[in-house]
Amino acid sequence: MKVAIYKEFQGPISIARVNDPNPTEFGVVIKVEASGLCLSDWHGWMGHDPDISLPHVPGHEFSGTIMSVGKKVKNWRAGQRVTVPFVGGCGSCTYCLEGNQQVCDFQFQPGFTAWGSFAEYVAIDYADVNLVELPEDINFLEAAGLGCRFITA
Ligand SMILES: [Zn+2]
Ligand SMILES: [Zn+2]
Repeated sequence: MKVAIYKEFQGPISIARVNDPNPTEFGVVIKVEASGLCLSDWHGWMGHDPDISLPHVPGHEFSGTIMSVGKKVKNWRAGQRVTVPFVGGCGSCTYCLEGNQQVCDFQFQPGFTAWGSFAEYVAIDYADVNLVELPEDINFLEAAGLGCRFITA
């Protein structure tokens, strides 16, 4: 797949070809249909986020279509239109079980703890806990802006 990638903080961002991602047991791979650009992407590129390891593909505001599903995912199948909050809780720790996934110690963040959506495909962990199906009347462009907004709110 093609990605936008940087190899050093505050360094050039270039287009490269890398291997397509595979889903984890509890994850999915999503074909990215739209991706936003956010101030948090800039903070990541500047080196302000200790979760980012190099080289890195940013992007956490996106929507897309599920392409493949991990073996232990129960609620999702290929072809569904989805978005995700950019902070994805693990679903099984104390915080998550209390309903406070935003402070989960094991959270998955596309574009921060893992490669993000400035790519043709993005792998998302903890899919059952975090994916949100898009209603027919919300298009991919509109949905791409939501992931960052609703977790922040
Ligand atoms: Zn958790
Ligand atoms: Zn954002």
